[in-house]
Amino acid sequence: MSERKYWNEEMETKSYEEMSDIQFGKLKNQIHYIYNNSPLYYKKKFDDAGVKPGDVKTWEDFYNLPIMGNKEMEIKSQKESLDRGDGHPFGTFLCAPVEKVIGMTATGGTTGDPTFSYIYTVKDLRINDEVWARVFWKAGIRHGNFVANIFAQSMHAGGWPVNHALTSYGACSIPVGAEAGTDRILRMLNLFRPAAIVGTAPLMEHLIERCPEVLKKSISELGIKILLCAGAPGAGIPSVRKKLEDAYGAKIFDSAGGGQGAHMVSCDSKEYYGMHMNCADYFIWPGDLIDPETGKAIQIAEGVIGHAIFTALEQEAKPFFRYAWGDLHQVFTKECPGCGFRGLRIRIVGRADEMLIVKGVNIYPTAVKGIVNTFFPRVTGEMRIILDEPGPDVKPPLKLEIEHAGLSQSELPALRDIIIQEIRNKLEVRPDVKLVAAGTFERAGGVSAKGTLIEKRYKNS
Ligand SMILES: [Zn+2]
Repeated sequence: MSERKYWNEEMETKSYEEMSDIQFGKLKNQIHYIYNNSPLYYKKKFDDAGVKPGDVKTWEDFYNLPIMGNKEMEIKSQKESLDRGDGHPFGTFLCAPVEKVIGMTATGGTTGDPTFSYIYTVKDLRINDEVWARVFWKAGIRHGNFVANIFAQSMHAGGWPVNHALTSYGACSIPVGAEAGTDRILRMLNLFRPAAIVGTAPLMEHLIERCPEVLKKSISELGIKILLCAGAPGAGIPSVRKKLEDAYGAKIFDSAGGGQGAHMVSCDSKEYYGMHMNCADYFIWPGDLIDPETGKAIQIAEGVIGHAIFTALEQEAKPFFRYAWGDLHQVFTKECPGCGFRGLRIRIVGRADEMLIVKGVNIYPTAVKGIVNTFFPRVTGEMRIILDEPGPDVKPPLKLEIEHAGLSQSELPALRDIIIQEIRNKLEVRPDVKLVAAGTFERAGGVSAKGTLIEKRYKNS
């Protein structure tokens, strides 16, 4: 007997249009909920815009609402709440009584105050578990599997909420965490031989390099069959996918979280057809796109690119509502050629604030990395874009430093030339490329495990 295709057959098989009706019904309730339960934040935002909850009668009314959340607004709201003596740092857009909060994670905090973006009530945690279950099922994780969690664990959304989801799904999490460092992660993988790893693609790339040193064998010998990547770009870049696939002998699934338990995941197809939005009954994402320059709504259609605005439809604790994450998404509305999925699919184009402009051409760091990685194994895959001045405008040439994988001096000029040529062909910008020794750049690991592609060689004023 063949097993079922989806975890939640009913919700994961709907088209974008069918889903829109379900979403709008929930949206109307959610607007009343946040308006009535967050007098100092959401009610104020609606009042300032001169809109009452009952005024939102069509999708157009919704798209015309102002942006009601972003990182800055969140930090301000947290500060207001602390100043008022609310007794918690969750901010004035906490919509549930604080007694109902049963969990939290935070983002940032290495340079400034952390933001407590994902706060959970019992219901919110149930949504988290349901959404992850759909992702786990689609990625082929099954009950009873060992799953190594190598996301950062400390206050991180990839930490306990993922472990909780795995437990409630019926799989066994090995919560080793990025903080443990690559040596300990590899030893755990060797002990458990898990069916799957969940974590960031840059850290998984790094494990390939470290495995022969630490375990005296290649990573393919560990028998890991599924790599479920999220939290950092990589698994959507064809050359990175191929590198991971070949090195592990595993299937790669690309997932991205919009926060608050929302996740999309790519399908089992050999070709990459983007991430499939299979929890649209809980979140408006990526169905709300705006032009990053004008802030005007973009009509959802095959292939359009825009700044994705996020709205949670059922969240209780601290629901995001028209929240601007800063991610640029390309959206696909046609049925997935790989698996027949009928909802929206996306490709992450880059961060709106990481976009660089060279001679009027928009350059995304992940696109550069994608091209560099096609030269693996002659390069390690580690690289940096060097900025001498703050972006987004870059005085040409675009400077790149790329690690070669131990080539001899005589081999370097040819590699350098061909990388320049390839980037020029694909991105229409001629970079300045310096090849540096393997191991020059710090690897993804430590707290964020996100990796970085930009090195700022200027002083922040
Ligand atoms: Zn598909």
